Amino acid sequence: MKTPEILDREAREILKTIPENPTAKERAAIPHQDMPQQDPGERIHNMSEVALGYTESEALVEASRCLQCKNKPCVAGCPVGIDIPRFINSITKKDYSGAMSVIQESSLLPAICGRVCPQENQCQKFCTVGKMHKNVDEAVAIGRLERFVADHEKDNVKLPEIAPETGKKVAVVGSGPASMACAADVRRMGHSVTVFEALHKMGGVLSYGIPEFRLPKSLVEKELSKLEAMGIDFERNVLVGRTRTIKELMEEDGYDAVFVGTGAGLPKFMNIPGENLISVFSANEYLTRSNLMKAYDTEHALTPYFHSHRVAVFGGGNVAMDAARTALRLGAETVDIVYRRTRDEMPARKEEVEHAIEEGCNLKTLSQPVEIIGDENGAVKGVVIRRCELGEPDASGRRSPVEIPGSDYTVDYDTVIVAIGNASNPLIKKTTPEIETNRRGNFIVDENTNETSMKGVFAGGDIVLGAATVILAMGQGRKAAAAINAYLEGKR
Ligand code: FAD
Ligand code: SF4
Ligand code: SF4
Repeated sequence: MKTPEILDREAREILKTIPENPTAKERAAIPHQDMPQQDPGERIHNMSEVALGYTESEALVEASRCLQCKNKPCVAGCPVGIDIPRFINSITKKDYSGAMSVIQESSLLPAICGRVCPQENQCQKFCTVGKMHKNVDEAVAIGRLERFVADHEKDNVKLPEIAPETGKKVAVVGSGPASMACAADVRRMGHSVTVFEALHKMGGVLSYGIPEFRLPKSLVEKELSKLEAMGIDFERNVLVGRTRTIKELMEEDGYDAVFVGTGAGLPKFMNIPGENLISVFSANEYLTRSNLMKAYDTEHALTPYFHSHRVAVFGGGNVAMDAARTALRLGAETVDIVYRRTRDEMPARKEEVEHAIEEGCNLKTLSQPVEIIGDENGAVKGVVIRRCELGEPDASGRRSPVEIPGSDYTVDYDTVIVAIGNASNPLIKKTTPEIETNRRGNFIVDENTNETSMKGVFAGGDIVLGAATVILAMGQGRKAAAAINAYLEGKR
């Protein structure tokens, strides 16, 4: 792995060779710029961000690779339709504030999405340069460029103008990316907005789920402070459905409309013997202790954490990678990621899997945990694993795992982290039966307005989509905000 210094030096040399107006052929021959990152040996001993971000030279070289395609195939791959060639063109002219303005026409959280968007399956998947090289890894690094612009302009962001006060009140339930986007767009129209969050910290998964080493919490706090500066009120430790119901918010507290962005925070379990043993955690609990309560900062931590030596993480998605990499940083000697298919079928981002392996996590693929074994104190002692092979593709299009009879073996562990997915929390559904849900408990909404079956109540993000992505949640929040603004206009 090249050091950040070498990568920057190489970029500066390449810059000198790029002609003023390169032809398409010359652009396509410019080498793709790797992301500078912390050395794996060092980074497992700290919580700081792994990917360090492009330097200006690296960003200028990478931006020069863009062909400025007239048909903009990359834009069709971005769920919020950022005008990608236009912002990249501004980078090549070193007009970074212009680039930021273009991004902000469509996205409210570029510093966050530039870091965590699964770009290789979205904008970059459709990039012509990647197609020319027949390799999506060679696509223009749109996400990294977006992050570069957002980081470069972090102190130059102007707050949006707020229309004169309308006297209308909107309650936003939950404070993840769907709610943050919705709150901002509703407030811009002059409506009063209060965000109710069950936890003591705002930000949803951005704060409690995604670890500091992938998404620094200072960035999330900065975005939240912008919302506060726009006049949005934050009410912490309010569990809607328990503290106040949606009906009470509307009928007694005078809210004219409600947006529900409560996410998918209910961890799923495997339902295998031994899941109730001490030192079996859901990934949610494990990550929340570390992220939200800073368990890794042993001197100041608000919560203790379990000192693990041998950890098994069940699952193959981003959440599993985050939990495994957190366990390493919290001092575990061995971390095995136990997954029933192969590496090719893992739903986690390729980059996250690579980072986990670089850091020393072991992939135990084609492996199905069938039982967790306890010791005399009721704590985890090991896991019985059954070998699998790949069968026919299932509904998701991925080849399904088929267990091999008689192949069970036991591995010693002292900690198990279950990261096999999350469902929606049933509390609001239970206390507000007027809101229709599907069999998975997700809210059913009108696809154009995101309004639920209860008049004046809108919803978006993971509570509608099931566990999805930050950018999709943000897009849903904005769509719902437009509909709420129109709804309130009609109520005047
Ligand atoms: P959330 O972010 O889940 O926020 C919901 C908020 O509502 C929470 O703060 C919750 O406490 C609050 N809440 C719930 N019920 C109530 C209630 N009754 N009253 C008041 N408040 C309530 N996506 C990516 O794009 N890239 C990634 O790399 C990525 N990594 C992830 C890693 C982890 C560990 C996890 C868990 C998810 C990851 N995701 C990733 C998914 C992404 O974070 C979610 O899709 C996104 O955050 C959903 O946003 P949301 O606003 O719908 O809900
Ligand atoms: Fe790509 Fe995500 Fe940025 Fe859209 S928001 S351009 S999908 S990185
Ligand atoms: Fe640039 Fe790729 Fe988009 Fe074409 S598809 S405009 S090369 S980012």
